Amino acid sequence: MIIVLKPTASPEQIEHICDSLTALGLRPEISRGVKRTLIGVIGDEDVIRNAPLRAMPGVEDVVPILKPYKLAGRELQAEDSVIDVGFGVKVGGGSLGMIAGPCAIEGEEILFDIARSVKAAGANILRGGAFKPRSSPYTFQGLGEEGLKILRKVGDELEMPVVTEVMDPRQVELVERYTDIIQIGARNMQNFNLLSEVGRTRRPVLLKRGMSATISDLLMSAEYVMAAGNRRVILCERGIKSFDPSTRNLLDLAMVPNVKQECHLPVIVDPSHATGRPELIPAMSLASIAAGADGVHIEVHSIPEKALSDGQQALLPEQYAEVMSQMKRLAAQLGRTVPEAHGQRA
Ligand code: PEP
Ligand code: MN
Repeated sequence: MIIVLKPTASPEQIEHICDSLTALGLRPEISRGVKRTLIGVIGDEDVIRNAPLRAMPGVEDVVPILKPYKLAGRELQAEDSVIDVGFGVKVGGGSLGMIAGPCAIEGEEILFDIARSVKAAGANILRGGAFKPRSSPYTFQGLGEEGLKILRKVGDELEMPVVTEVMDPRQVELVERYTDIIQIGARNMQNFNLLSEVGRTRRPVLLKRGMSATISDLLMSAEYVMAAGNRRVILCERGIKSFDPSTRNLLDLAMVPNVKQECHLPVIVDPSHATGRPELIPAMSLASIAAGADGVHIEVHSIPEKALSDGQQALLPEQYAEVMSQMKRLAAQLGRTVPEAHGQRA
């Protein structure tokens, strides 16, 4: 339910409503809009239905939240969410998060090398996997904590926020310690325990769309994170399964405006995993910006043939610099900006 408050509702009345809801075991979510203040009521549907909401002083109307994603949907929050990921970088509301880096963290020297080049090109978030969800148990699985330490060191030295994947609820605390943004990979998009666990952290979450997930599935997964207390979710389109093997996955670009109709969270596109083909990445990156994406995620490696994971889809640093300069020009034309990462970890 959404409680629509009277324009004249006093702070004391709002506090009284929130206290009454809490006493019923419900969770009030205050949303202060330009014209009206709303209180979203989250919790057991039966309790909500029977609660005397209309009778509370200051209440003008009570309307149901129609969509199942109550916190991620626009009914309760009409304005776009803008997510501060640290180092002066905001994602959403016209500010683009440009994520770049290798698929996996392979060592300090090579990560410094790649990170310096992508930062010089304008990337404002550094990526690198320390725990890799590989299709085969016999391939490189990532450097684990050693990788996280390297990522942190490079991010701090080059003044960039970092993002890395967590695959196991037992490792959330460890990953949270080192990273600025916690990535949930496509394969874990519906690992609900993992979603709730990252929902209890205070770091923004990059939630990648599952390869067979509908948009509604994705939004419900975002809801899991938000319901656990963490509102800072960034969605990521990374391609879905299709019948056509000519690209690694099928990039669903229409998903960007489609999601934005329903949901206030920022949406980033990952053309690297979506296409799997470096020569298609520049065109799809520009198309993502044109479609309204709040950022683009691209895998970059200085020696793709020696990469321990996803080398076949990595852009070379100079290719990344070229596409970044085009994306920055297009973004500027569309009135959007790419903030420069700087400063220290919050
Ligand atoms: C990745 O970002 O390296 C990755 C494994 O992505 P996805 O979960 O989208 O396959
Ligand atoms: Mn990868």
